[in-house]
Amino acid sequence: MQINIANNSGFYLARYDTMIKVFIVEDERPIAELIRLSLPRQEYSCTMVYDGIEACDMLKDHRFDLILLDVMLPGADGFEIMDYIRPSGTPVIFITARRDLNDRVRGLELGADDYITKPFLPGELIARIKANLRRSRVQESHIN
Ligand code: CA
Repeated sequence: MQINIANNSGFYLARYDTMIKVFIVEDERPIAELIRLSLPRQEYSCTMVYDGIEACDMLKDHRFDLILLDVMLPGADGFEIMDYIRPSGTPVIFITARRDLNDRVRGLELGADDYITKPFLPGELIARIKANLRRSRVQESHIN
């Protein structure tokens, strides 16, 4: 099924099926917004939630191509949310504010594919997203 959607400005139409669906879980709204604005709107469709419980609810019914997951969140933290994501095999990039090695190590141990430390530059974020999508597509093509 192909659905034509308009972006926020309303004048660009894209085929939703061909867009990369990114789920942004980040309670600091300016950062969530920065991420969304960093991703070219012709290619990426972003869904944002600001709370850990909302994130878990959303993950029950929706599939994404990639998830950007903050560690410190109200409701449920990033580590807890990993339990909901892992069965789907969706690639996860942890976003961490702390320059805390323990958070990164724990995220990776729990099955995250990568991490990015705040503050980050949009270019670095996009490069990491692309690298992780490439990797997950290679893995899928080996399975199928
Ligand atoms: Ca946070």
